[in-house]
Amino acid sequence: HISPEAYRAKHEITIIGNESPAPFMTFQSTCFPPEILREVQQAGFSAPSPIQAQSWPITLKGRDIVAVAKTGSGKTLGYLLPGFILVKNLRNNSRDGPTVLVLSPTRELATQIQDEAVKFGRSSRISSTCLYGGAPKGPQLRDLERGADIVVATPGRLNDILEMRKVSLHQVAYLVLDEADRMLDMGFEPQIRKIVKQVQPKRQTLMFTATWPKEVRKIASDLLTNPVQVNIGNTDQ
Ligand code: ADP
Ligand code: MG
Repeated sequence: HISPEAYRAKHEITIIGNESPAPFMTFQSTCFPPEILREVQQAGFSAPSPIQAQSWPITLKGRDIVAVAKTGSGKTLGYLLPGFILVKNLRNNSRDGPTVLVLSPTRELATQIQDEAVKFGRSSRISSTCLYGGAPKGPQLRDLERGADIVVATPGRLNDILEMRKVSLHQVAYLVLDEADRMLDMGFEPQIRKIVKQVQPKRQTLMFTATWPKEVRKIASDLLTNPVQVNIGNTDQ
């Protein structure tokens, strides 16, 4: 058992902001519901990854967060598991639109996130659907009609479906910009801003990114409210 300070030093965690809760060094300390703890145990995970350990206590407080950590560090469950808990707490009718919206740069990444949401959310009765371009809209629209607590989407396809008025974002309370640096590299900034205008200002916004260049800082300062930032390792500026 080590102190929060020793854990942060060991995993090169730095926090910027007016909140620095102790990291959740074990799954038990997260106080996640038993069905979620069972899922991570069944997946064979022994402990939260550093970005999970330090971002979860901040996210669960309802704060906006910027999380900077390299690929492969467990960012997906970093935002999904607190999102599951929010869905359970709010218990919206998923047919009125999703509670959680995750924006992702590519079809491949969106599909991976969707797979993780399905796998880890099943026992919590979380429904999730995935919207991406390069595939027919019909099946995606039918999935949406069935209702989904979580929508994972690439920005272009989501805007197409928004224009068709086939989904409403008025219930979104938890907005995730995943791989924000890549989305901006791919030219999605106007699409992202258009989408975010349709999400209520009274929301929690989370940005996950592998790098922290000035374009990403700018959109973070425009879309997030008083965020806490968590960096893992040397995040080259
Ligand atoms: P990132 O988004 O940071 O690139 P991912 O969320 O894709 O990383 O996670 C990388 C891999 O690590 C996935 O296979 C995921 O299931 C696994 N993983 C996530 N959390 C943990 C954990 N706490 N312990 C072990 N493996 C984990
Ligand atoms: Mg990722």
